[in-house]
Amino acid sequence: MFDKSIKAYEEACKVIPGGVDSPVRAFKSVGGTPPFIDRGEGAYLFDIDGNKYLDFVQSWGPLIFGHCDRDIENAVIETAKKGLSFGAPTLLETQLASEIVEMYENIDKVRFVSSGTEATMSAIRLARGVTGKNDILKFEGCYHGHSDSLLVHAGSGLATFGTPSSPGVPVDLTKHTLVCEYNNIENLKKCFEDSSDIACIIIEPIAGNMGFVPASDEFLAACRELCDANGALLIFDEVMTGFRASLKGASGILKTKADIITFGKVIGAGMPVGAFASNKEIMGHLSPDGAVYQAGTLSGNPVAMAAGLVSLRKLKANPEVYDELNAKALRLINGLKEVASSNNIGLQADARGSMFGFFFADKMPTNFKEVSSFCDFKRFATFHHEMLKRGFYFACSQYEAGFICTKITNDDIDACISAANEVMKNL
Ligand code: PMP
Repeated sequence: MFDKSIKAYEEACKVIPGGVDSPVRAFKSVGGTPPFIDRGEGAYLFDIDGNKYLDFVQSWGPLIFGHCDRDIENAVIETAKKGLSFGAPTLLETQLASEIVEMYENIDKVRFVSSGTEATMSAIRLARGVTGKNDILKFEGCYHGHSDSLLVHAGSGLATFGTPSSPGVPVDLTKHTLVCEYNNIENLKKCFEDSSDIACIIIEPIAGNMGFVPASDEFLAACRELCDANGALLIFDEVMTGFRASLKGASGILKTKADIITFGKVIGAGMPVGAFASNKEIMGHLSPDGAVYQAGTLSGNPVAMAAGLVSLRKLKANPEVYDELNAKALRLINGLKEVASSNNIGLQADARGSMFGFFFADKMPTNFKEVSSFCDFKRFATFHHEMLKRGFYFACSQYEAGFICTKITNDDIDACISAANEVMKNL
């Protein structure tokens, strides 16, 4: 039933390294061949063999309204008809920036880029430019895109392949990157004792790249305190959580506030986009107002802006969507926990807003080492494939999170739980 995808993968491998344009898509973590997608519709994906899947990936987060949402689709088509790119200012950029600024109390200005990688890379340059310091501090298992200085003990695809950093990145380019254990305050303090040159902490406040692992409130408060005490800036990487974890992202549900926030795919509703944002003073350092250089030919692309604008406006007009999404995420994880327990299988699961994750483990991991050491990856791989065969498309690695879209119904979720029950009987 995957014949066409298997053939397509063989063909792709001849002309594309590993057959994919982003490593995690190759299914290396769970084995087998990835289904090649023909189209999406609402909560569902359809592959080229005609298989239909309930999609818990939603393009790794951006599609809060599911595939082919009519409003977003229409905005994209209408905007595209006027031209795809101008490399000149458009009203859409100001409109989308204004929507974001209105939502986050600690943001006055936004600069758009074309990916999450660009957003975090630029945010770090800005933090270094503002503070005049060189070191950056990141956490093991947090992924912030593939720019050189951030490819150090990173999660996501890298963790899957067990490579702590990538060949091709000179040691000189990572010597200013300090890596701490997530949720470990002592480790964090030690880093600040060891270096007086820390420009910023960059963190996924709710991590989705070592599986779904939220930071504790105490840990985030310690990040804030240590930054303040040492003249460093705190960057929340909300590429995944922005407008996902709540209408105001992770920042909206956490007590700690960051100095700089990075956004990504979610604000483009499926179009390639990213952004970084901060208060007036910090953003004033950015070119052309200030000296910190940053640029992009396709940045603020009108079609991407139009898609993001419609999506954000729909969310703002219907904030109750978040309660519904969260209720569905909880229905899913509670259902999975119940069927796991009735089959004597250790399963840990958690959710924030429409983001969720689960681990085959007897206790909840709180950092990357724990995920890697005691979560059962073999069991996850079997579960993943058995669910795929039954029409349920989960992220293809235990190091990734899952996402609920508005088009998923309670019946869909119940069907998934009952399939999971069937699978777990033989797991
Ligand atoms: N930051 C986080 C938290 C991410 O999850 C990702 C991608 N999954 C990135 C940055 C990089 O974004 P992109 O893949 O758009 O470059």
